[in-house]
Amino acid sequence: MTRTLPPTRSGGTDRREPGMPEEIRWKGYPSRIEMMGEEEFQSGVKEIPHSEFTSPREGIRSLTRSERSDIVRNMSELTTDASLRKMWRAFKNQTPALTAVLHWGYPRFVFDGWIRTLKGQVPVFTFHSVEPEPFESRLRYLHRNGYRTLTADELLAVLNREAPVPDRSVVLSFDDGWGSLKTVAYPLLKQYGFKAVAFIAPALIGDETAGSVKSDRRRFCTWAELREMQLSGVVDIQSHSLNHPRVFISPKIVDFHRPKRSGNHPKLNFPVYRESGQDRWDRQGRIGMPIYESQSIFSGRHRYFDDEKLREMCVQFVAERGESEFFSKKGSTQTLLKIVQDYRNSNIDLGRFADSAETDRAMIEELQGSKRRIEEKLPGHRVRHFCYPWWNGCERAVQLSKETGYEANFWGRLIRRPANRPGDDPFHIVRLRDYYIFRLPGEGRKSLRSVASERSEM
Ligand SMILES: [Zn+2]
Repeated sequence: MTRTLPPTRSGGTDRREPGMPEEIRWKGYPSRIEMMGEEEFQSGVKEIPHSEFTSPREGIRSLTRSERSDIVRNMSELTTDASLRKMWRAFKNQTPALTAVLHWGYPRFVFDGWIRTLKGQVPVFTFHSVEPEPFESRLRYLHRNGYRTLTADELLAVLNREAPVPDRSVVLSFDDGWGSLKTVAYPLLKQYGFKAVAFIAPALIGDETAGSVKSDRRRFCTWAELREMQLSGVVDIQSHSLNHPRVFISPKIVDFHRPKRSGNHPKLNFPVYRESGQDRWDRQGRIGMPIYESQSIFSGRHRYFDDEKLREMCVQFVAERGESEFFSKKGSTQTLLKIVQDYRNSNIDLGRFADSAETDRAMIEELQGSKRRIEEKLPGHRVRHFCYPWWNGCERAVQLSKETGYEANFWGRLIRRPANRPGDDPFHIVRLRDYYIFRLPGEGRKSLRSVASERSEM
């Protein structure tokens, strides 16, 4: 009985726990970037690594008494549902740390709504798929309060100090290029005289044309639609990688592929896997295959190539027991985990990690491939901006994006970089979710509570 661990660059440690696949300590590229993913934030403050903050107390000391009570008031407004109540409890326990987190993660206007705290910065808002009324209500708010939109190029010029910051300027950005960008957002943007930037992944671009509002939420734009929007000057098409790639990052199994796997955009989030030397990007998956812990290819973690023999065994086992029927029974996951454990106990698990050269190459292919394909499909158009899929990236990815000719990188929220101001690094542009538009200073500004309820609307 021989067991070997997949090779790890940092010298993995074998720490086996009975009944579970071994846990391997694995580090990819060291990262200086601390991200605050929207998901992390929603799932509670516990996941925010307090220990990473050198001086949370300094954060709160820097606030005035009235600013502190403002935050407390705003926070209490947020206690609308269970998760937020949890956050409120955590807030009371962890006031200094959380206050500092909030101030590092969000621009101050979100809390105080003062035009003077907005001055000198350009908030960038993110949309995915949109529906007519919620989307138009955001445009109405911006329009009524005299906001103007900048293009991604104009934002870049501001950050590079090549242009002044126009008062009340914002950037509207769209991720993934969902069909509703063309059928819902585009006509409304035109109507209000606004501009936007759309980050698309060429491999996702389909040939399914406009249908109902419902189907437009599920399909991606076609090249013809993207071309029309680009030519209009209203929507600037930029890069969101080639494949929106998610890869396995460890031998830790989190699920087994099953009929109707749930989750947000299960297809978009399906990781690539290798079969007989070929990467399968079709996101179909094979029923019964192990789904390992996964992340964006840009996360800085090295890709884990799982053992194909083990995968095949699971797929076979499930196929012989009638796929759906097998999964409809209780304990199906445990049964499969047991098979994996037995296999790993009596075989050499052929899973392996990519090395740095492979990880680099994979990132470069995504960065370059996307830029090339968009420029090919939209002749005369230049791709200069890159947006991280799942807003997840690392310093190495930033470096490679520079080397492949990008001039700016867009993220979600980043710790210690709440806003975009002249002189700020254009490779770390931060963005807020679309509903924070209603926290911009202006008439009809919404409370944090109603903003919190907006989030479930879209
Ligand atoms: Zn995306």
